[in-house]
Amino acid sequence: MHFEDSPEEAELRAKARSWLEAHAPRRGEPGDFTTDTEHEQAFSDACRAWQRVLHDGGWAGLTWPVDHGGHGLSPAFEHIFQEEQMAFGVSTATLQVGLGMVAPTIVGHGTEAQKARFLPPMLRGEQSWCQLFSEPGAGSDLAGLSTAARRNATDDGWVVDGQKVWTSYSRFSDFGILLARTDPDAPKHHGISCIALDMSTPGIEVRPIRQLNGAAEFSEVFFTDVAVPDDCVIGPVDEGWRVAMTTLTNERGLVGNDWPGYAEMLVVARERGLDRDPVVRQRLVEQYTGEQLLRFFGYRMQTALSQGESFGPLASSVNLFFADHLRRSADLGLALLGAGALAAGDDAPGAGMWQFHFLTAPSVRIASGTDEIQRNSLGERALGLPREPRSP
Ligand SMILES: Cc1cc2nc3c(=O)[nH]c(=O)nc-3n(C[C@H](O)[C@H](O)[C@H](O)COP(=O)(O)OP(=O)(O)OC[C@H]3O[C@@H](n4cnc5c(N)ncnc54)[C@H](O)[C@@H]3O)c2cc1C
Repeated sequence: MHFEDSPEEAELRAKARSWLEAHAPRRGEPGDFTTDTEHEQAFSDACRAWQRVLHDGGWAGLTWPVDHGGHGLSPAFEHIFQEEQMAFGVSTATLQVGLGMVAPTIVGHGTEAQKARFLPPMLRGEQSWCQLFSEPGAGSDLAGLSTAARRNATDDGWVVDGQKVWTSYSRFSDFGILLARTDPDAPKHHGISCIALDMSTPGIEVRPIRQLNGAAEFSEVFFTDVAVPDDCVIGPVDEGWRVAMTTLTNERGLVGNDWPGYAEMLVVARERGLDRDPVVRQRLVEQYTGEQLLRFFGYRMQTALSQGESFGPLASSVNLFFADHLRRSADLGLALLGAGALAAGDDAPGAGMWQFHFLTAPSVRIASGTDEIQRNSLGERALGLPREPRSP
């Protein structure tokens, strides 16, 4: 791929930059809502409001099909917009399950009625989604899930019972994309259906889990006799595994950019008079190099997408590298603070941002496939090693 922008890309970048300057606060300036993600409701509301601003400004759904309210542009344009947006204190993180994972799933497998019902409000920031896949007994081995949907008495809908766990942003979600077993007698990867579940349906109980970093980003979700109409099944009944592969493939391409990095670290290093320390300088260079490598990984993924190819093993490499990079960057962030790293919350430098980063980074080694699973996948799919034993 070419690293320089084409004339059209350069034009979009310039437009995006000047539009963002006019509509968004810069990182760290008043109005920046990305440093306070612990206050989940306020953060979620701010993400919705920002998505609405993007929509009204003509910047939402850059790669979405024109028929569904998007602009039909190549992924490179979305990448450019995201690169420019990184300098600003705005985010759509709580909407990314919907925009980044559910939307392509509905475009690929949904009915026309489902596309019309779900896609436009998602784009306007009016509808947020969560991913109801993982269960206490089914994470890495997702197809082992046991949440069940059975036919209701009148045979014109489904009744769901079971439990999910780790469901990010479920407290603030209007809909969830749910995997449920609809045929208990079918082989493991069959007999599963994918359902668009209205989270306000009676019988759904969301119990937040407080995490190491103090936030309650994810929850357990319990279902007791939850009624689901037939028209909420996405794709064919019992063929939900195939549908879920589209969701998961799109999840693998999402590595967040709402993390403090080199630019913020340099400010702290200068404030603390550490920017001449050779060891600190070495670590800052490693941080900078890691960020550049992630940028180039991003370009490779965009290139694969624009050529109609799937990410393949590249997604596993990116996830592994990203998780490791965050761990090292979180260590450096705290090291730069010195004794200030021991303070908490508002008493801490940066209002606790560095401590939050440090306590959040380990979760990235688990989310969207653990490091071990990514390594298995690389071993099998990139290196051609013998397959891991699979449970039946
Ligand atoms: C921050 C965060 C957000 C998340 N958000 C969501 C969400 O919104 N929706 C959702 O559905 N899920 C979500 N998840 C769940 C995530 O997808 C699972 O945690 C992940 O797939 C691992 O599953 P598990 O936790 O059940 O661990 P397990 O699968 O039980 O694994 C336990 C340990 O065994 C190892 N292991 C398992 N199988 C193998 C194997 N074959 N070879 C080698 N080692 C193995 C794992 O690497 C791990 O170390 C989230 C997780 C996190 C951390």
